[in-house]
Amino acid sequence: MSDEPGNHPVDGHDLEAFRTEVRKFLDQVRELTSHASGRSPLEQRRAYLAARFDAGLGAIDYPVADGGRGLDRRYVEAFRTEAASRDFDLHASGFGIGIGMCLPTIRDHGSDDLRRRFLRSGLRGDEVWCQLYSEPGAGSDLAGLTTRAVRDGDEWVVTGQKVWTTGATDADFGILLARTDWDVPKHAGISMLVLPMRQPGVEVRPLNQMTGVAHFNEVFMDGARVPYDWVIGEEGNGWRMAVALLAHERSSIGAGGGRQPIPTERIIALARSAGMTADPLVRQDLARLTTGTRIIQWLNLRQGIHPSIPKLWRSRQGCHAAQVASGLAFPGGAAWLGDPIGTTEPGDFLGADGSHWAYGICDSTAHSLGGGTDEVQKNTLGERILGLPREPTPDRGLPFSQVPRNN
Ligand SMILES: Cc1cc2nc3c(=O)[nH]c(=O)nc-3n(C[C@H](O)[C@H](O)[C@H](O)COP(=O)(O)OP(=O)(O)OC[C@H]3O[C@@H](n4cnc5c(N)ncnc54)[C@H](O)[C@@H]3O)c2cc1C
Repeated sequence: MSDEPGNHPVDGHDLEAFRTEVRKFLDQVRELTSHASGRSPLEQRRAYLAARFDAGLGAIDYPVADGGRGLDRRYVEAFRTEAASRDFDLHASGFGIGIGMCLPTIRDHGSDDLRRRFLRSGLRGDEVWCQLYSEPGAGSDLAGLTTRAVRDGDEWVVTGQKVWTTGATDADFGILLARTDWDVPKHAGISMLVLPMRQPGVEVRPLNQMTGVAHFNEVFMDGARVPYDWVIGEEGNGWRMAVALLAHERSSIGAGGGRQPIPTERIIALARSAGMTADPLVRQDLARLTTGTRIIQWLNLRQGIHPSIPKLWRSRQGCHAAQVASGLAFPGGAAWLGDPIGTTEPGDFLGADGSHWAYGICDSTAHSLGGGTDEVQKNTLGERILGLPREPTPDRGLPFSQVPRNN
């Protein structure tokens, strides 16, 4: 099959035929994702994504015109379950932010030029993306961001600081939220730009976490340049774009992208090896984890579900799994084997050999923060789904330049 975008036909696949196609593909590419290939983990995933795109499986629910198959979510889920049942790293760590969040936003809201420039290369894994949203003074209150973009001829000049930027050390491009107008209320003055990361005006400083892995970074922009027409949506329309990307982020996290809860099967194996499977409280925990896994799968099959729902379930599952694992592994759960300090690759510190649980337990604290905190998801569901009163917003209507702030 040609690898040119637009050449993958919408066939009248039934699900079973599609599954067979997926299994065949996964068998063919198994060696690309194996450690024995000698490639770095990022390069293994890059090779896998290229093969997947070229086989017509890299953009299952994308329109045919954008290089996709034009199939619905049942096919995406079928791919996911087939890959998961073979223990494939389908989350393509390092590429998840591009594939799960940035590229769908460009697909839905980018100009023809941006779609042509970025979709195919991103889906094939040729380019890595990061998300430049959070700032030291703007996390949950994201619309309070102060990174500034000013027009200079055919370019934007960007100055400011981002933080918590996952994968920025490897990124070629970042989706950036910047303030382009300070004289309108805070949500109205933001634009979404595509920032080339590899340029003199961008400095990335890794942040080591308690897991020892430098998963995220600070990003300093000082006179960084962006082509003027690399705006997604329109100038000043960045908040609407930001919300659209966050919806992709939450569904991608809910659907299994990004950080993984410690898998339930591993915890069951741990309970067996600890001789605890007859304990009624342990059985109850294992049943809850098994049910949670199943509920998340089912939620992902629902069309039109609010993305905060699966996101919250994943967060709950991640935290509960870590709690159960730490109880079962105690005192060995505190043992710290290997030394990932300063690396950007978690590798398999999850206790594949049943001995090293500390990484997964420490890492689990991030489930309830990344992609928006649990409290913020609950606020969103309360306001948008349950129709509860909105949170008070004292700065509503005030030009951002007049909003009191610390920086
Ligand atoms: C692993 C990980 C990866 C991340 N990757 C990225 C990334 O790639 N790019 C990026 O831009 N950001 C990233 N983030 C940042 C993440 O989006 C923020 O941490 C998150 O939005 C919270 O912002 P904050 O840390 O500033 O906390 P704050 O907003 O300061 O919140 C502090 C506490 O107050 C609570 N709180 C705040 N406001 C409310 C409210 N209105 N109602 C109730 N409770 C409230 C919060 O729930 C939280 O418990 C990442 C975070 C993590 C943990």
